Amino acid sequence: MFVHVAVPVPGLDLLTYAVPAGVDPPAVGARVVVPLGSRIVTGIVIERDTRPVSRGVDVKPIRQVLDAGSFVPADVVALARWTADYYAAGVGDTIPALLPPMARGGRADAHKTLRMASITPAGLEAIAASEVEGRQLEGLQILSGSPAGIATSVLAARGIAAAAISRLARRGYISLRHDRVDRDPLAVSPLAPGVGTPVSDTGQSGARVVSDPTLARQLTPEQDAALGRLLALASAADFRVALLHGVTGSGKTEIYLRLAAAVRGRGRRVLILVPEIALTPAMAAVVRDAFGDRVAIQHSGLSDGERHDQWQRIRRGDIDVVVGTRSAVFAPLEQVGLIVVDEEHDGSYKQEESPRYNGRDVAIVRGRQAGALVVLGSATPSMESYHNAMTGKYERIVLTRRVLDRPLAAVTVVDMREEYAAEGPDVILSRALRDGIRARVARGEQALVLLNRRGFATAVFCRQCAGTLDCPNCSVSLVIHGDGHARRARCHYCNYTARVPTACPLCAGPYLEQAGFGTERVEAEVASACPGARVARLDRDAIRRRGSLATLLAQFRDGQIDVLVGTQMIAKGHDFPRVTLVGVVSADVGLGLADFRASERTFQLLTQVAGRAGRGEQPGEAIVQTLYPTHYSIQLACRQDYPAFYERELQFRRAMRYPPIVSLVNTVVRSRTFAAAMDDAGDVVDKVRGADNQLRVLGPAPAPLGKLRGEYRAQLLIKGTNRKQIRERLQSALAARPDLQKRVVVDIDPLSVL
Ligand code: ADP
Ligand code: ZN
Repeated sequence: MFVHVAVPVPGLDLLTYAVPAGVDPPAVGARVVVPLGSRIVTGIVIERDTRPVSRGVDVKPIRQVLDAGSFVPADVVALARWTADYYAAGVGDTIPALLPPMARGGRADAHKTLRMASITPAGLEAIAASEVEGRQLEGLQILSGSPAGIATSVLAARGIAAAAISRLARRGYISLRHDRVDRDPLAVSPLAPGVGTPVSDTGQSGARVVSDPTLARQLTPEQDAALGRLLALASAADFRVALLHGVTGSGKTEIYLRLAAAVRGRGRRVLILVPEIALTPAMAAVVRDAFGDRVAIQHSGLSDGERHDQWQRIRRGDIDVVVGTRSAVFAPLEQVGLIVVDEEHDGSYKQEESPRYNGRDVAIVRGRQAGALVVLGSATPSMESYHNAMTGKYERIVLTRRVLDRPLAAVTVVDMREEYAAEGPDVILSRALRDGIRARVARGEQALVLLNRRGFATAVFCRQCAGTLDCPNCSVSLVIHGDGHARRARCHYCNYTARVPTACPLCAGPYLEQAGFGTERVEAEVASACPGARVARLDRDAIRRRGSLATLLAQFRDGQIDVLVGTQMIAKGHDFPRVTLVGVVSADVGLGLADFRASERTFQLLTQVAGRAGRGEQPGEAIVQTLYPTHYSIQLACRQDYPAFYERELQFRRAMRYPPIVSLVNTVVRSRTFAAAMDDAGDVVDKVRGADNQLRVLGPAPAPLGKLRGEYRAQLLIKGTNRKQIRERLQSALAARPDLQKRVVVDIDPLSVL
């Protein structure tokens, strides 16, 4: 008999190995140790092949079977296989998503352990008989008060050193053992201060008060109707997809929780996906509050050990609800009855390395496999999902109002051309936004200020030769970070960093000007416009250190920060009741990009960020600064009119033949020179066209990001109505050019074509 095995090597497809006579054939999903060239690796059995191994066939035998049954459940193996096929990736590429980090080396049971000491009967007698003294006596006395034992690290902290402990053990007065401890990611990092009951797990099981979500607050009539329909769908216990389109603050989370409680009540399990758990901390905490200890958290921000423990708990069946980011779609959870994809439009669901899967779409496939209800939730659904809802493929469920009849934020558009005319060309904060922030600070309310661009200045140019300071490795200009002495020029793509020159590197001209501005500059502007206000910044630069994000969010929630300036990170999912003003410094940042989703992204970002205002008692206001006040994505976002945006954008997609009208596949070929990249991409184009004249193949063309990390990039786009056909034609074209394998990236259903 043979087995087909996925091994963790990029791009490799299944490899076939023989099962030696006398070895029990491993199950699908079992880990096996196999030879690969001169190496030995751990792989996963994806398929069994019962044909007998005939003599003379040159197939290497597996070396070792690590699991008696399956380690990864068989349906998750099937899901991984689907993912690899659909996204034109090697099956091995899915392994990181399938296994907990430490299981890859074969240490399945590598748990954190605590060394525990407990006193023996001989030890108790020794105290009574005064046979010990000093530190050893002290140690025994401490231990005599805790018959279950005390961790040696705790004893050490109380002055009983390792030497004394080993002496006691040698004399038989204490016994030592190792206890397995499941690391609880919520216990070590209070993810969501102030959300629901505080998350203060003591690590002792049973210490948590579990509140029943069905007993909590009264649903609004809209929530009630939506829940009713979802419950009906869930009770059919069939595969269904529902799009829950609810405006910001309409209380979607409450619906997820009650639905989850109902599904769990019927003995099935629940998977909740969120875009970036660190940015939507409320979800993990709220679910924990509702479901207690049978909840696991899976995301890449956890340490390897934490992830490993959580994975094992899910696999053991100790978990009913998993909350996690995209790779949690592969969680080893059985009996799945409900999958929730919150903020389904979010770009974080797409993995930007192979396999380039979209967690939302894999979730739908998993739902089909499991006969489960899949709920996609969003205030700004992706064009794809809304299209599926409009064509009847998904159920559409709508929440048009905020809870407690809170109004949506009133949005004012500021035309920055008028502002420049009145106040000069260097204005960053319009008069309306400046006054608005000052008023909020004076009233003790809070403001969020969004600019989706990091850094202090976004370009440097020479007044003499008009040359710019560009990255030597990438076709972009360097961004200035910091001010004064700390000033540095940095590439946001390859991280190249340089001092800012005092003269032009091209013509030696002495007049270098900074142009454009990013979040750092806005932070400085807000601080100088509002003396005394506590201003902070939230972007990728500000949260480099682990934990600093949680700290910043907690400080803002506690009112220790008045104005928070940031990138799209501040737009996501947060519920800050004291925010009454949201300012958008430049709504146009994303509109200039040569990407077919530029308008969709701009609409989503503006709607989401405006949705952060007025979530408490006080009504909210949003001020949107733009140079294109008549652009439809800005106008319709300001009116918060999603259906109108969808119709308008669909016209564009139809005219230009882009998703959701057609399927799209982006292929990028990299090379040392521009000419070679174009030639190779051109060759692929010819081969695809030669094989099929029905497909629309665009290119070869220089990619919008023409040079990246020292390599040139050429691109071809294929459009068609049959995705499978596109993929097959492309794969056979690439099979004829094995030399390209390491230099080509195929992106099926790309989110961006830069
Ligand atoms: P969404 O995800 O739709 O933007 P949330 O689920 O975050 O909205 O809910 C917004 C706020 O309203 C939260 O603070 C939530 O606790 C609260 N909320 C939800 N449902 C109700 C309700 N029926 N009555 C009162 N408050 C509610
Ligand atoms: Zn660069």
